[in-house]
Order: sequence, then structure tokens, then C-alpha cells
Amino acid sequence: MSITIYEKDQYEGIKLAGKIAGEALDLACRSVKPGISTWDLDKIAEEYIRSKGAIPTFKGYMGFPASLCTSVNHEVVHGIPNKNKILKDGDIISLDIGATVKEKFNGKEWNYIGDTARTVPVGEVSQQIQKLMKDTNDSLFKGIEFCRAGKLIKEISTAVANIAIEGEYGIVRMFGGHGIGPEYHSEPFIPNWPEYFTQNKDTEIKAGMLLCIEPMFNLGSDDVRKLKDNWTIVTADHKLSAHFEHTILVTDDGSYITTKI
Ligand code: MG
Repeated sequence: MSITIYEKDQYEGIKLAGKIAGEALDLACRSVKPGISTWDLDKIAEEYIRSKGAIPTFKGYMGFPASLCTSVNHEVVHGIPNKNKILKDGDIISLDIGATVKEKFNGKEWNYIGDTARTVPVGEVSQQIQKLMKDTNDSLFKGIEFCRAGKLIKEISTAVANIAIEGEYGIVRMFGGHGIGPEYHSEPFIPNWPEYFTQNKDTEIKAGMLLCIEPMFNLGSDDVRKLKDNWTIVTADHKLSAHFEHTILVTDDGSYITTKI
């Protein structure tokens, strides 16, 4: 797997995919309320993406059965929407969505993908939980500051991790950010912990790279488990977890957050 470097003439298609993903996520987040099922949220997001002529990236990806990942409370990522999973006042839910735009470029069919996630409260939550969500989101934007040509991936990892260390959160290590190629997940891996690079090679960031930064912070330990459904990741201690993500296009003069609306 190599890192895709996009050409400038592809940037509009990439931005469009990000915009559709960002809008679908925002719509799903605004639909979150006590009494709604995670299945309903999936349908809302999928219908929006298809209404824009795009394709839900996650549906069928490695066999994932839905368009939206819906991870409630101690579920970290990759929760599967379910008609029987009804949100209650005081829950939190992490929503993660991808949108694919197909476009011909230089005689070849390309997939341009936007990938974005956000954790939102269902009704009222405590100040501690609000802080968990705010700190995780802040760490995403700290990481984005280092997402520029000439920087190293480790600088993103360090910026994200410093906020987790300050807040005494567990940093999920099994998953992290990533590049986005035409087949979705690609190199480079963007861990939320810089120690990763004591054993692994770092990558210099270049213009034309499309990168996802996605911190996942836990109120308790960093230890996570995969459930028997083979998808849902949960915290081992069942404490709450938050997840925020944006897709960032590295340009000659900085970067562009494609999924921010
Ligand atoms: Mg991602």
C-alpha cells in the first residue's frame, strides 16, 4: 500500500466528497435525541449521501453492514446501527461517516472520499463528559495545525497526545488516523501516540496527501476490546469514550479541512 498524492485538478472532487460527508454527519448529529434508534440515524445519513449523488463509503467496506458507525457510551468506534438500540437521555454517541464521489480523471475512474466523526450528547450530560468531548475535539484541531507539507506525522501524534496526557485520558492505540486513497484506508497510519515511532518509520507530509486525523480518548484506561459482532470496539473498563475526525487535504500553502462545514 502506498500513499496517494492527488493532483491539483482532483482537489474539487475531493472537496465535494468531504463536504457531502460533513453535511451528512451534521444532519445525523442534529437528529440525535432520546427515543431515536441508531438504525434511524443510519438511514438519515445514507439517504442524504445518496441524495447528493455520492455513495456511503462504509457500506460493504470489509463487510460493514451500514453507512454510519454508531458507537454509544463505552463503545469506541465501529458500532453497528440497530433498530433495537434506542438512545436515552444522558447517553453519548459517536457517529462516523464516509462519502465517496466517483469522478473520471485522466481517463481513469477515481473514488474521492471524505471521512468524518463526532461525538455528541443525547440530552443532558455531566460536565466531566462535556470536557471529554471538548478535549478530544480540541486535540483534533491541534493535530490539524501540524498537517502541512514539510511536517512529520509524529508531530500530529504528539500534538494530539499532549492534550490527552493533560486531561489524563486513555488514548486508544488499536486505531488511529490514516491516509485516504481510492480504496479508502491507506498509508500512512496516523497514531494518536508518538511512541509508535520509536519502532516504526515516520513519514514526511507532502502537498497532495489526503489525511484523516481521528483522536479517540477514554475516560478510563486505554485498553479496548472487540465484541463478538467482530466490529464494535468497546473500552475494557466500560468507561466512556469520545471520537472526532476530519479529512484534511494538504495543499502547497497549508491545508484544507474537506469535511468541515
Ligand atoms: Mg477514518
